[in-house]
Amino acid sequence: MESKIQIFILLIKNLKILSKFQFNDKGFSVFSKIKFININDQNNISSKLKSAILIPLNPIKSKNQETISWQTNIDNVDLILWDKILKPKKWHSYPSNENPLFYFDTKRNLILPSWDIISSFQLFINSDNSNKNKDKLGRIISNKVEYHNLRLDNQPHLNNANFIFLKATLLINNFSEPVEKFISPIKLIISHDIDLLRSNDFLSQSIRSYRLLLAFIKFNFKDIKKYFSGFIRAIFFPYRNYGNSIFGMIDIERQFDYKSSFYFLFGKRGRYGPRSSERETLNFARSIPEGWSIGLHYNFDSFKNDKSLKNQLLVLRRNLKKKVISGRAHYFIFDFHKDAKLLNDCGIKIDESLSWHDSLGFRFGIAGPLIHQSQNIKTLFIPTIFMDQLFWHSDNKDEFNLEYEHLKKVGGIISFLVHNDIFFNKEYPQFIGKYQKLLRKLYEDNLICCLPEDIYNISKPFLS
Ligand SMILES: [Zn+2]
Repeated sequence: MESKIQIFILLIKNLKILSKFQFNDKGFSVFSKIKFININDQNNISSKLKSAILIPLNPIKSKNQETISWQTNIDNVDLILWDKILKPKKWHSYPSNENPLFYFDTKRNLILPSWDIISSFQLFINSDNSNKNKDKLGRIISNKVEYHNLRLDNQPHLNNANFIFLKATLLINNFSEPVEKFISPIKLIISHDIDLLRSNDFLSQSIRSYRLLLAFIKFNFKDIKKYFSGFIRAIFFPYRNYGNSIFGMIDIERQFDYKSSFYFLFGKRGRYGPRSSERETLNFARSIPEGWSIGLHYNFDSFKNDKSLKNQLLVLRRNLKKKVISGRAHYFIFDFHKDAKLLNDCGIKIDESLSWHDSLGFRFGIAGPLIHQSQNIKTLFIPTIFMDQLFWHSDNKDEFNLEYEHLKKVGGIISFLVHNDIFFNKEYPQFIGKYQKLLRKLYEDNLICCLPEDIYNISKPFLS
C-alpha cells in the first residue's frame, strides 16, 4: 500500500502528462506554470504559501462524504464530484457554496480542490485489488465495483480535475478568454484485436452448427439461412470477413488519413486461446502497410506463463520490420497491479488492456495515458474507452454520446477498439457500415489521430 505522499506524487505526474494531451499549446503553457503543493490539513495552511494549488493529504470532511456526489455546470460542461472536503475559513467557493469545484484565497492566489482528490484517485487505481469482483476468467465485473454503482466512472475524473485546475488558474490570474480556448481537440487512437484470421476452424464451425440446430428447432428461417450460408462460406472463403477485413479497415482509414494498430493473437491454442497459426499471423502482419502499427494481443495464458508472452513477442520482432511495442490483453484479462511488470520487462511501452469488458465507462477515471505506481514500470497504460460491441450496442447509444461529447469539452485521448471479424461480417449485419460512419464523425469533429508510439514519445520526457 502506498503512502499518501506517494499517491500525491503519482497523481501529479499523471495530471501533468495528461495536460500535454488535454490542452493546446496555450493551455499547456498556462498549466505547466501551476505549482502543486501537498498540505496536511486545509485549516492549517502555512502563511508562506503563495500562487499554488494545494492538495490536502488528509483533508477534513463531514461524515460519509465518499458516497455523496454533486454536479456543477460551468462553461457548459457538467462535472460530477464526490467526497467533499470542508472549505477553509475565510476562503471563497467557486462557483457556489452548495456545489463547489474549488475553494480559493485571492490574496495569496491559492486554490484548493473541493473534493478529496487523493482518495478519489486511489479508488480508481485500486479497482483491481479485490478478487471477489472478478469473473471466472479473472476480469473485473463492472457493477460489482463500488464506484461503478455510484457511476463515478461515467466521466474521466482525472481529465475533469485538470480542467477544473486550469479553470481555477485562469480565474485567479484574471484571464478573460473562456476555458474552451485552451482545450485541444481530442487525440484519437484506433486499434484492432485480431482474434480470428479465418472462419473455418473447428470451434467456429462447431458454434455455427450448434446455432443452426437451434434455428431449426425454433423454425427461425432467417437464422437458418444466416448460419447455413456462414458455414458454407467458411469452407470456400475462410478469410473473407475475417483476415481480409484487415485491409478493408485500412482502406477506410486511408480515406480519412487515419492510422491504426493491429494486435495479433496467436501462440498456444486452447480454450479461449487463439486459433491462428504463427505462419498465418506473420503472413497477414507482413502485408500491413508502412505507417500502420503492429502489436500483440496477449494470449489468455500470457500472465500465467511469462515464456508464452516473451516467445510471441520474439516471433513478431524477429520477423517483422516494424517495432512491436504495444498490445492489449485478450478478453481484457489483465491485472494492473500484478501483470504490469511483465509487460515492462518485455518492452511493451503502451498497453491498452485497461477497460471494462461489460459496460462503457472510464474504469481508471482517465482518458489518456496512466502511469503505474511502481517507479520501475515505464509502460504507459491507455485505457480502451470504446469497444465496438459495447458502444455500438443500441442500449449504450446515449451513454456513448454523453461520454464522447464530454471528452470533446475537457480534452484527452480516446482509444477505440474495432475487431476485424465484426467490421464487415454477414453474421453480424448490425455492424456493417458502422466503422466508416464512425470515422467520418471523428474526422468531422477534427479528432487528431495518433499511433501508440506517438503518445509514448510525447509522454517520455515526463516519465523519468
Ligand atoms: Zn481478443
